[in-house]
Amino acid sequence: MFVSDPDTQDRKLISLVVPFYNEEANVESTLAVIAENIDTQRYSWEVIAVNDGSSDDTLKKLLTVRSFEFKLVVVDLSRNFGKEAALSAGLEQAMGDAVIPLDADLQDPPQLISMLIEKWEEGYDVVLARRVDRSSDSFLKRATAGAFYSVINRLSDVEIPHHVGDFRLMDRRVIDVLKTLPEARRFMKGLFAWAGFRTTIVDYIRPERNLGDSKFSGWKLWNLALEGITSFSIVPLKIWTYIGFIVAACSFIYGSFIVGRTILFGVDVPGYASLTSILLFMSGLQMIGLGVLGEYVGRIYLESKRRPAFVVRSVHKKAINRDS
Ligand code: UDP
Ligand code: MG
Repeated sequence: MFVSDPDTQDRKLISLVVPFYNEEANVESTLAVIAENIDTQRYSWEVIAVNDGSSDDTLKKLLTVRSFEFKLVVVDLSRNFGKEAALSAGLEQAMGDAVIPLDADLQDPPQLISMLIEKWEEGYDVVLARRVDRSSDSFLKRATAGAFYSVINRLSDVEIPHHVGDFRLMDRRVIDVLKTLPEARRFMKGLFAWAGFRTTIVDYIRPERNLGDSKFSGWKLWNLALEGITSFSIVPLKIWTYIGFIVAACSFIYGSFIVGRTILFGVDVPGYASLTSILLFMSGLQMIGLGVLGEYVGRIYLESKRRPAFVVRSVHKKAINRDS
């Protein structure tokens, strides 16, 4: 059990929330790098490590890792719920005056933490860490990420900043707002941006993943992008009214032209090719419209069940080791 230390009472507490999914190779090194980069003189620290249903030895390593100069809270989820849910579970447990989510693979460098805190001390509620150089990501990932941000920002009223991941510092006030949001399906970057508050930016160069492999396949990223767009914009739904008007107007003009031509020049030989292509094009268009509708209806359905975003199996707390 964690025993509160009298000399830590008046210091502000900073919580680091780290989701771990099959990251056994990174447990020890990531926690060690965090420990090297925190100012234990001026602040108290806790690391909330969320085990997102790993099938490897991540949990065992988290529970048996040596003590550091921060309190370690291990939140074990009942299965893999995905990074967004794991972050929510971590935020739920975080007690800090400021909270910083960061990846378990050291791609969100703990070296930056002191800079984030500096800005927070200046009075900002949110300090974003922005990647100035994404050369550690593949060309395809950069191109698709760029396209995603321009699409979502055009469609949504909430401005989701480019090149900013989940890595950021948020004041307790922001976390309290996030905790009141009732939705189970959470696109965290969007929710963070939705909350607003006084925001500033710190730039950094994103390093390569430390050990292990990326947990996000192209398909998972595509679904995350859909989640982001459908939870922050209804433009894809509304646009069908306008497409309908345009298609109807074009059909009317073309129809009048055919009727006029028939009256003036008599009945033409029926146009098999044009008829078929119009039919195919229109049914394709209708299918797309239905598909978009389906995306939203599906989400309404899932949300209406009111299932929680994650299930916690157990929470383990490990005190600070002052002798280390
Ligand atoms: N992660 C998670 N649950 C998942 C997938 C990923 O908690 O279902 C964690 C993962 O352990 C890591 C972070 O989310 O700490 C980012 O994952 P990753 O580094 O694989 O993503 P990338 O950097 O390749 O986008
Ligand atoms: Mg990574």
